[in-house]
Amino acid sequence: MLQKTYSPSIFNAYKICKRQAWLMVRQLNADQNNEFLEIGRLIDNKSFKRQKKKIYLADLEALIDMIIKKDETIYIAEIKKSSKTLESGIKQLKYYLYLIKVKKGINAKGIIKIPKEKISREISLTKQDVEEIEKTLKEMKMVLNSNTPPKLKKMEKICKVCAHFEFCWG
Ligand code: SF4
Repeated sequence: MLQKTYSPSIFNAYKICKRQAWLMVRQLNADQNNEFLEIGRLIDNKSFKRQKKKIYLADLEALIDMIIKKDETIYIAEIKKSSKTLESGIKQLKYYLYLIKVKKGINAKGIIKIPKEKISREISLTKQDVEEIEKTLKEMKMVLNSNTPPKLKKMEKICKVCAHFEFCWG
C-alpha cells in the first residue's frame, strides 16, 4: 500500500526535530519567491531543453536546486556548499526521487554537486532506499497526526535558528 507522503521540507525537518515537522504540517509554508511548476508539465514542455534553476515543484511541494534534461532522462540536482552536508544532501535527493517516482511514475536520477570541491556524484534510488523512506513515512504519519506535539527537547544550535523558537521557548 502506498504511504502518505510529506513535502521534502517536512520530511527533512522530521529527521532533525519531530516537533518542528509537527508544527510545519499545521502551517504549510512555501516560498512565494520561487517559480511554481508541475513536473509533469515541465517534462512535457518541448521548450524545456536543458536546465532550470531554483524551481518549486508545486505538485511535489519540493524546492529543487536544478533540473536537467539530458538524452530524455530527467536529473534532479542538489547543490551543496561543502561535503559536510553531503550525507544529508543525498538523503534529501533520494526523497525527491522517491516522490517523483511514486507520485508521477517518473524514474528520475539525482546528481549532488559541491562546486567548491569539484564534486559531482550521480545518485540513484535503490529498493532499500524505498523501504527505508516508507518506514519513515509510516512513523511520521503516526507522530504528525497526533493532536499533541512531540515533547520539547532543547537542541542548542538548532533551536537558536529555528523559525518556531518563539512557539517552543518564547
Ligand atoms: S525550537 Fe527547537 S524544539 Fe522547537 S521546533 Fe524548533 S528545533 Fe524543535
